[in-house]
Amino acid sequence: MERLKLVISQEEIAKRIKELARDISKDYQGRRVVFIGILKGAFIFLADLVRAVHLEQLEIDFVRLASYGYADATSGEVKITKDVEISLKDKDVLIVEDIIDTGITLDYYLKVLPRYEPRSVKVCCLIDKPERREVEISIDYRGFYVPKGFLVGYGLDFAEKYRHLPAIYEIERVS
Ligand code: 5GP
Ligand code: MG
Repeated sequence: MERLKLVISQEEIAKRIKELARDISKDYQGRRVVFIGILKGAFIFLADLVRAVHLEQLEIDFVRLASYGYADATSGEVKITKDVEISLKDKDVLIVEDIIDTGITLDYYLKVLPRYEPRSVKVCCLIDKPERREVEISIDYRGFYVPKGFLVGYGLDFAEKYRHLPAIYEIERVS
């Protein structure tokens, strides 16, 4: 069994997304921007973020990256199981990710992206969780800093459960 402890409320998430959206809108004014959501975890964050930004030439796409290993950790092997479908050539790309933990998944994808010839690539993550970081990632827009713990809700799952919860919780295992 698991017990859930509230870490970030719905109100805090909404407030922070407004602030991120204001910065992103300012930085990308007049640009051709593609937001790339990393499935599945980032789907709710991306949906809220795109509705809060003011960018006329915004396009949206998704990738699905599978990391193999333990249920809640990253082994270091990453595969693209669904790639982007629109052209990134000469566009400004903003990667929208749920959590950066070890950094391995995003590091892999950032190395693949230049082949699509984007004009620029930046990273926006909802949660920066640095405890287990193995690869340094430069985060351009950071929602929250959570030092440790396994989080669920607002897109994040535990064995596919809890993605639908509107706030973010830490899982506490109880036996
Ligand atoms: P990384 O490659 O940075 O270690 O991990 C990337 C992915 O692992 C995240 O995008 C997320 O899908 C998953 N992940 C890392 N930490 C957590 C967590 O606390 N909760 C959940 N649900 N997923 C996590
Ligand atoms: Mg993810």
